[in-house]
Amino acid sequence: MEKRSMTLPNGILIEFYWGEKDKPKNYSGGVHFVPVGDLVKPCPFCGDVESLELSNTHTPIYEIECRCGAKMEGDYHDPYESKTFQDYCLCRELAIKSVMKLWDTRA
Ligand SMILES: [Zn+2]
Repeated sequence: MEKRSMTLPNGILIEFYWGEKDKPKNYSGGVHFVPVGDLVKPCPFCGDVESLELSNTHTPIYEIECRCGAKMEGDYHDPYESKTFQDYCLCRELAIKSVMKLWDTRA
């Protein structure tokens, strides 16, 4: 099965899986606890950087969350319309980039 990933500017690898069969046995339905404090601005509420994390569940929407409870969701780019795995990965990448941009532009 084809597999692709996205490497964040801080070197963290996020893997994408194409279809149910492709997912590893320990796949928990999304990315969790991916630290992004060095990629985005500090939390606008508490100023924290260390605890900022990128995550998602089984949905293609990603969010950034702070330990103070601040949370923001990114845009939805429907990956299920994708005809190729490249398109699917692009949707995921756009969703990840969108939440980082939204987080940084929040007043
Ligand atoms: Zn915070």
